[in-house]
Amino acid sequence: MPVTTQQPANAHRLAIGDFTLTTLIDGQFEAGFGLLSNIDETEAKRLHDASRRPTPPRITLNAYLLETGQETILIDTGFGPLGGGAGGRLFESLADAGHAPDDIDTVLITHMHPDHIGGLVDANDQPTMPRARVLVPAGELDYWGGAIPADADDAQTQQFEAAHRVIAAVGSQIQHLEGNAVLPGITRVPLPGHTPDHSGYRIASGNAQLLLWTDIVHLPSIQFPNPEATVAFDSDAAQAAETRRRIMSEVAESREPVAGHHLDFPGVGYVVADGAGFRWLPHVWTP
Ligand SMILES: [Zn+2]
Ligand SMILES: [Zn+2]
Repeated sequence: MPVTTQQPANAHRLAIGDFTLTTLIDGQFEAGFGLLSNIDETEAKRLHDASRRPTPPRITLNAYLLETGQETILIDTGFGPLGGGAGGRLFESLADAGHAPDDIDTVLITHMHPDHIGGLVDANDQPTMPRARVLVPAGELDYWGGAIPADADDAQTQQFEAAHRVIAAVGSQIQHLEGNAVLPGITRVPLPGHTPDHSGYRIASGNAQLLLWTDIVHLPSIQFPNPEATVAFDSDAAQAAETRRRIMSEVAESREPVAGHHLDFPGVGYVVADGAGFRWLPHVWTP
C-alpha cells in the first residue's frame, strides 16, 4: 500500500475574542541557501541542520481567513497559478474550513508578491472571487502597478509582471487602502523593507489581539536567531532587517501573539528574546 503523506485537512482555527482566525495552508516551496544574505553561509547551514528541517529548506506558505461576524475576510491568497507548481492549495484548504470562494466579502492584501496575490486569479486569468472587494495598501499598488524599474533584475521583473497580470484581471475589484484604520478590529501596521509598503495587520476583539506580521520571516530556523539575515525577496535589505529586529523586540516584550504567511503551519505563536536574537514558540495545536 502506498504511504500517504497528505493531511486530512489543511485549516486551523483560532479564536481572537469574538473573531475566528483560520490558517489555510497554500503549500510549501523550496529555497536554496543562496537566497540568504547578511549571514555567513556556514552559519546558516549550521542553524538549519540544528533545526532538523529538510534540506534544501522549504518555505511554508499560508493564507488567513478572518471571520468577524460582520464580514468574511481572506488575508492574502497564496500562489494560485503563479507558483510554477508550488502552492495553489488555497481553495482546497478553504473548503476544509467549510467555505467556498463566493463566501469571501473582502480580500485584504499585505503586499503584492506573487505568493500573496496569485490566488486572486485562475489559470485563465479569471477572477476566483469576483464578488469580493480587494483592499491593497496604496503604496503597494502604486509601486507594483507602476513601470518596471530600469535596474530591476530578472526576479524583480517577474514579480512586476505577475502584479501587472493580476491587476489587469481583477482591477475593477481593487480599492486603494489609505491610512491604517482598515475595518472594525483591523489596523494596518506598516512594516516596510520587504516591499515598499509591506503591511502587517493587527487584529483585535474584546481583550484579545494578534499581529499578523506577514513576510517578516521566511526561514524561521535562521532568521529568529539572526534577524539581520535577509532573503533575496526583501526589496530593501537594510530596512527589512531593521524592521524585523524592531518588531521582534516589540512582540517579545509585549507577549502579543503573532501570525505570519511563512511561519510553519498553523503559523501562529510567540516570540521570545534569546541571546543576541530571538526564538519562536509555536502555538500548540488544539483539537
Ligand atoms: Zn513577500
Ligand atoms: Zn511571501
